[in-house]
Amino acid sequence: MEQVSVLPVREQLIDRRQRLEHEIGRRGPLPDLAHLLQEVDAALARVSAGTYGLCETCRAPIEPDRLIADPLVRFCLEDLPPSEQRALERDLLLAADIQRALLPPSDATFDGWRLNYVYRPYRVVSGDYCDHVATASGIAASMLMAHLHAMFRALVLARPSLDVLMERASRAFCESTLPTHYATLVCGRATTAGDVELCTAGHPSPLVVRASGIETVESTGLPLGMFSSEQFGTTRLHLDPGDALLIFTDGVVEAEDASGTPYGVERIARVAAGAHGLEPAALVDTCARDLAGFVNGRPYADDVTMMALRRTAG
Ligand SMILES: [Zn+2]
Repeated sequence: MEQVSVLPVREQLIDRRQRLEHEIGRRGPLPDLAHLLQEVDAALARVSAGTYGLCETCRAPIEPDRLIADPLVRFCLEDLPPSEQRALERDLLLAADIQRALLPPSDATFDGWRLNYVYRPYRVVSGDYCDHVATASGIAASMLMAHLHAMFRALVLARPSLDVLMERASRAFCESTLPTHYATLVCGRATTAGDVELCTAGHPSPLVVRASGIETVESTGLPLGMFSSEQFGTTRLHLDPGDALLIFTDGVVEAEDASGTPYGVERIARVAAGAHGLEPAALVDTCARDLAGFVNGRPYADDVTMMALRRTAG
């Protein structure tokens, strides 16, 4: 296990060392280059000593994602020196700004449809992401929000079928992110005539809110980006005027009350059933209020996103 994880790091470090030496040979011994060279050598020494990847303060393993992103990191998140802590906070605030800028309008009207969503990040940067594009709408969860956003916007342009869109997105996501990252998501397409095609990749099942009651749309695939050759099934539905689709992230169903009981799908389904006929903003608000009453002031442990897409009357 150790051998497997250490060997590529050592090669990576040696590669970086060679590039640095080449650069120093070309531009002279600039202080920042010399400093980086020292850090690379120190990392190589840690690899030889068997302490690579362990925090220099608490000796616990450093977060793997951070090590992959920067093989020179020496401290776990909790033990970051104050200057690095401040730099990380600045990065997070910038990431939060980017996320906010990428979110679509929270209320939108399309041909025959109206949409609304609430988005409550639990930390500065949210793992949830939602977007709607012309006739397509989707909701997803990922730390790599900007990445998913750009990818779907680009893929949708070619107007592929939904299953092909998902396969392409999964392959692109798999090839361009850390192997430990995948995203659960619901991606759908709605036509003016009320037909909806949905793909639910490892995500909590969306609910169809009809006058006759609630229907659950079962998952049609694994999360996005788990394997590069995933295939995705889709579900077709028809919504009558006044019917709505309610999509939510696992942060909603897993939110707990004081006794540790999760909010659950049954409860949101019951609340949504009583909210048939409401505009999307009111439907989402009713569900969000019920959830807030349920957790009763306890802090959420995850991001909370809910989106309603309702077929407008006539
Ligand atoms: Zn530590």
